[in-house]
Amino acid sequence: MAERVLVIGGGGREHALAWKLAQSPHVQQVLVAPGNAGTAKNGKISNSAVSVNNHTVLAQYCKDHNVGLVVVGPEVPLAAGIVDDLMSAGVLCFGPSAKAAQLEASKSFSKSFMDRHNIPMARWSSFTDPQDACRYIRGAEFPALVVKASGLAAGKGVVVARDKDEACQAVLDIMKDKAFGSAGETVVVEELLEGEEVSCLCFSDGVTVSPMPPVQDHKRLLDRDQGPNTGGMGAYCPTPQVSEEVLQEIQTSVLQKTVDGMREEGTPYVGVLYAGLMLTTEGAKVLEFNCRFGDPECQVLMPLLESDLYEVLMKTLQMELSLSPVQWLQDSAAVTVVMASAGYPAAYKKGLEITGLSQVSEMGIQVFHAGTELKEGGGVMTSGGRVLTVTAVRPTLESALRSANEGVAVISFPDAVYRRDIGHRAIAHLSRRLSYKDSG
Ligand code: AMP
Repeated sequence: MAERVLVIGGGGREHALAWKLAQSPHVQQVLVAPGNAGTAKNGKISNSAVSVNNHTVLAQYCKDHNVGLVVVGPEVPLAAGIVDDLMSAGVLCFGPSAKAAQLEASKSFSKSFMDRHNIPMARWSSFTDPQDACRYIRGAEFPALVVKASGLAAGKGVVVARDKDEACQAVLDIMKDKAFGSAGETVVVEELLEGEEVSCLCFSDGVTVSPMPPVQDHKRLLDRDQGPNTGGMGAYCPTPQVSEEVLQEIQTSVLQKTVDGMREEGTPYVGVLYAGLMLTTEGAKVLEFNCRFGDPECQVLMPLLESDLYEVLMKTLQMELSLSPVQWLQDSAAVTVVMASAGYPAAYKKGLEITGLSQVSEMGIQVFHAGTELKEGGGVMTSGGRVLTVTAVRPTLESALRSANEGVAVISFPDAVYRRDIGHRAIAHLSRRLSYKDSG
């Protein structure tokens, strides 16, 4: 019998998950809570108003509505134990337990874990007292430092300091002025790593790791990596600058080692494990772990996933990932461009009318909605900072970027902000390789 699946969340990531799940013949209906205008009524997909914070109410809702599988998008419900609570109420739920989700929810936990298991990362120390943190900063042998709130801060709790004064100021902002609330009760101070950033994700059933192709996202708001850091302004996949050799190394020395270590410590990791890495001259080093898909990384991974997502999630939950490999489209590249509201990542307007959405779907371009809402009487309006993710899959990165940019050009809402250079590092890498070959 075909299943009803509930996706928790309301961003572009959750629209992409719902879109991919809806393609499965095993799935009869996908509900998204709370969802957005893109998941409101769209073939098999519709929104649900169920409250996701009360896990008892949620478990009862799943039973009453014959929900056979719950898929959790964001990290906050995972850290709050949604998987533990639903599973113990007899509702199948995809994602790590609250204990395993500490790999993301507590940076001091994840750094100590990496120390115990010899996983490559920046040198670090954690503090609950601001004076101790500043003393450490003053005496540190590395000149440039990064100061991080240890808890969940929606990707914002990280200050990359230029010098020791700035690092000490960051400690005071986080610990004394509580810039990130209780997430900053403990701070992690670490060495600044230099290199190129890449995201390597995998499915893990607690024993077996099934890696996804590496992705690169673009955190800065504006072209040429200018402007403030954001939740992510676009992503692309594959990443030709990550060699097969480096990828192998990441899979064994980071992903598999982490999953083995978690199991050995009695907290098996089941779900999607995301390693944010810096490719340094000394090899790949972990910047952070996330306990779920990234947003916008998910919006390029789902269109490149050839396997049935429902089957992959079920195999993960049944500890059967080793039985058949997860398949990814070969000879294809995906680019997603985020369209944001003017002012984002600070204050922005809401309620702006969006046009061009039906035209763009006729161009073979997939728009995953994020901060959107249906307007009374029809149409779609903005309701968040990141509004839409415009995704194109084409044979090459260059053609995918061109198509995604063409898609963005036909969509309009007042003062939309977006980048035009998603994938620029890969494209530069490819042209360097080409000119090297030509000159050779
Ligand atoms: P995190 O949430 O720990 O991944 O940090 C967010 C962003 O801050 C990363 O994506 C990096 O761009 C930057 N960052 C974090 N840690 C470091 C580090 N040790 N060296 C350089 N950049 C870092």
